[in-house]
Amino acid sequence: MSLLSIKDVSIDFGGIKALIDVNIELEKGSLTGLIGPNGAGKSTVFNIITGIYKPTSGKVTFDGKAISQKPYNNTKLGIARTFQNIRLFKNLTVLDNVKIAEHIHVQYGLLSSFIQHKKYLDGEKTQDKQAMDLLKIFNLDKHALNLAKNLPYGEQRRLEIARALATKPKLLLLDEPAAGMNPQETKELTDTIRFIRDKFDITILLIEHDMSLVMDLCEDIYVMNYGKIIAHGTPDEIKKNPEVIAAYLGE
Ligand code: ADP
Ligand code: MG
Repeated sequence: MSLLSIKDVSIDFGGIKALIDVNIELEKGSLTGLIGPNGAGKSTVFNIITGIYKPTSGKVTFDGKAISQKPYNNTKLGIARTFQNIRLFKNLTVLDNVKIAEHIHVQYGLLSSFIQHKKYLDGEKTQDKQAMDLLKIFNLDKHALNLAKNLPYGEQRRLEIARALATKPKLLLLDEPAAGMNPQETKELTDTIRFIRDKFDITILLIEHDMSLVMDLCEDIYVMNYGKIIAHGTPDEIKKNPEVIAAYLGE
């Protein structure tokens, strides 16, 4: 059964057709790659899924429900993402970056937080523990009390993924997570993504420029060029596809 269904989605930006009749289906628990040259429309697909952009035509359904243009609600429904350019709270600690994301599932009212002060404090402790557990998975626990801006680049990228997971998503969207990483960091990231998929029982859509990473990780791949899906299949099928080869050679 599909968790996410993108049906005949198109979007125009003042005459520029950024997406043209895009169809993508993500099975529950799958790890799917989305590749294509720069400007192909990959990040725009993420902005459509998260409700930042409204399609000019077509439909996006998540877990059987239509996506709204309220990104916060879509996060609550279980969609989390990372960005092509890192977006952390740079002046907060590593731990607080993760805790802020966990709060999306905690309801606060002035009265209830006043009456239930003890319960609130207990809740804080649980959240500290959950956040630390997540940081351990990403080998970031030793940096918990450091400011996010002081982490090395590769660790900031890992923290972004940890923070996305803290919202307890069903679908995780990763936009070029290996961008700017050295080969060693890329290798660690590959292992981490595989681990997340196995341990968290989550569906992942991965945009990535590093072809070998995508071929290595994903069982299913969509290829975009000029706003269209030009190929869809297994890594072996994609590697042999003449349109895909042409799109990459023409870059
Ligand atoms: P990719 O992530 O594959 O590199 P994008 O999805 O970022 O590509 O962009 C696809 C196309 O859509 C580009 O031509 C880009 O300039 C255009 N585009 C994306 N967002 C906007 C926007 N908000 N306004 C105008 N054009 C946009
Ligand atoms: Mg992009």
